Amino acid sequence: QAKRRGRNRFAWFEPNMETELHFRSELEQGIREGLQRGEFVPYYEKQIDLETGELTGFEMLARWISPQYGLVSPEVFIPVAEEIGLIAELSEALIALALEDARTWDPRLTLSVNISPLQLRDPWFAQRLLKMLVAANFLPARLEIEITETCLHENIAVVRTLITSLKNQGICISLDDFGTGYSSLAQLRTLPFDRIKIDRSFVSSLGQSADSASIIEAISSLGRGMALPITAEGIETADVLAALRRFGQFKGQGYLYGQPASAEDVKRELAALGLLTSTAENAPAPDA
Ligand code: C2E
Ligand code: MG
Ligand code: MG
Ligand code: MG
Repeated sequence: QAKRRGRNRFAWFEPNMETELHFRSELEQGIREGLQRGEFVPYYEKQIDLETGELTGFEMLARWISPQYGLVSPEVFIPVAEEIGLIAELSEALIALALEDARTWDPRLTLSVNISPLQLRDPWFAQRLLKMLVAANFLPARLEIEITETCLHENIAVVRTLITSLKNQGICISLDDFGTGYSSLAQLRTLPFDRIKIDRSFVSSLGQSADSASIIEAISSLGRGMALPITAEGIETADVLAALRRFGQFKGQGYLYGQPASAEDVKRELAALGLLTSTAENAPAPDA
């Protein structure tokens, strides 16, 4: 009987594993082809100065518009792209597109991009990025790189050299999802960050949880002490915004200000606000 149960269990388990493996290889193939076909596009989330309510820039968030799966979250395809060795190509293609978009925005607006830990282990990454900035005629000081602390567990010497050369060019480095890792505080001393981004788990529970308020209070005083400006992610309600403003002068982002939007939607909105550079300025020089 045990044998039969064992066989049954096996028989029950096997097709699922097969389905999963099949799905996984289909997903990998989809990502490879999607990259060739230009199915990966940048979306943009507004970043706001919470003191003045002014728009300061956008965070680029990767999206996959897949003919097969629809609009796919980066939580799904970034880890797979990392595993199959395509993250650098994917990320750099998206950054190139984002630089083209951001070039048409008011030059006071910044662009933040998320960078995978794997990219920071490639000593040539900094050079390629700087080359892209030159090609797009984009001021390095307008670019912010967001890294999570998983970056910081291995090859820290390589990462530090790379980060330092990016910083020397004027690029800002932010510590993303702050407070969620198991060694957040230690990481602050590991690399010369320019900004802390408070993870949205603390921000979105601000109204309901006294603990979240204490944590944000602590991060805020840490930021003041280390002269590190702070961005709060995941602001969804006016109540959370009001509560946050009592802690200090933060930047912020979240669905309260709108969902991440396509380049075209952003352009339309900036045009309405008078925050697009004139088309004449961006058009290629007429041959005189
Ligand atoms: P992240 O950098 O922490 O980005 C914030 C995530 O929270 C985004 O999810 C954003 O859409 C979402 N979000 C923003 N405001 C709110 C809010 O008010 N409420 C809620 N519930 N969510 C909010 P998304 O776009 O799915 O990205 C997830 C993560 O994927 C990002 O987290 C980032 O770590 C990663 N990612 C995105 N684009 C890239 C990329 O080009 N390269 C790499 N390496 N990672 C990326
Ligand atoms: Mg981010
Ligand atoms: Mg984050
Ligand atoms: Mg995140």
